[in-house]
Amino acid sequence: MPELRKDPVTSRWVIISTERGKRPSDFGAERERERVGFCPFCPGNEDKTPAEVLAYRPNGSGPNAPGWSLRVVPNKFPALQIEGDLNRQGDGMYDKMNGIGAHEVVIETPEHGDTLASMSEQRIEDVLWAFHDRVLDLRKDQRFKYILLFKNSGRAAGASLEHPHSQLIATPIIPKRVREELDGAKEYYNYKERCVFCDIVRQETNQGVRLVGENDSFVAIAPYASRFPFEAWILPKGHAPFFEEAQKNEYVHLSKLLRELLLRMEKVLLNPPYNLIIHSSPLRETDGRSYHWHIELMPKLTHVAGFEWGSGFYINPTPPEDAARYLRDAKV
Ligand SMILES: [Zn+2]
Ligand SMILES: [Zn+2]
Repeated sequence: MPELRKDPVTSRWVIISTERGKRPSDFGAERERERVGFCPFCPGNEDKTPAEVLAYRPNGSGPNAPGWSLRVVPNKFPALQIEGDLNRQGDGMYDKMNGIGAHEVVIETPEHGDTLASMSEQRIEDVLWAFHDRVLDLRKDQRFKYILLFKNSGRAAGASLEHPHSQLIATPIIPKRVREELDGAKEYYNYKERCVFCDIVRQETNQGVRLVGENDSFVAIAPYASRFPFEAWILPKGHAPFFEEAQKNEYVHLSKLLRELLLRMEKVLLNPPYNLIIHSSPLRETDGRSYHWHIELMPKLTHVAGFEWGSGFYINPTPPEDAARYLRDAKV
């Protein structure tokens, strides 16, 4: 059973993944490991993953067999474990609880060689629907407070398998990063009686200097205080606290804009590894007014090093105004 331990100074929770029990030599070995030819996510290898919890099967094939266009399966090496109680307890001055949560993998396509950008808009929309469907199911579990949806693409961004996939982790605690955004947004709201994200959307669409693209429902921008070069956010234009409450036409518009943004990144940065994160409201704790869901896309072009780790400051060598212009000007 993994353990959740709270840092008594910063209140940050850490997952101590006891079962993976790595020895010092394992880390070197992992760095050296070559990509193996076998892919558990390819059609025909369904028995090499845990049994699927969701699949889209346009021609009605049976579960855990080929014929799917998308599958969702529990992670074979989950960071958190689905069964058990939280069992919060003290350990002297420290706080800990059982590492309870859900960790699932969305296998986005049967095509091993696809990328999210090379997929059709329909396929990207299906990935959004899979997230939507899984969140609606998992939010019934009262132990969970937050669900983080994310994608690591490329080795340098943390992907251990090449086959296009994204992930979902449901946690019994609201993550610290999310908490900081929630608190900041709430403070802004209390002061101005407006949603900070709605204000960002308004200013960025008016000024246009950091605008990368937009359509009826969404806007893509290089954020004003970008932490990383070519960091980009996609926000719904209308105020919306929850990703999973978006409507059909919104997922259509989102898949268009996301695909376009990824194509621009591929073009300008030559297929960079990246992390994509969906920040939505906590499952049970929201006033619905101050927080506004959005996507954060971070190509992995620089290394986070001593100063960043030590200070929480980031040094970004590309002004977001320049990044936005490069992305806008790319012919896709
Ligand atoms: Zn594959
Ligand atoms: Zn808003």
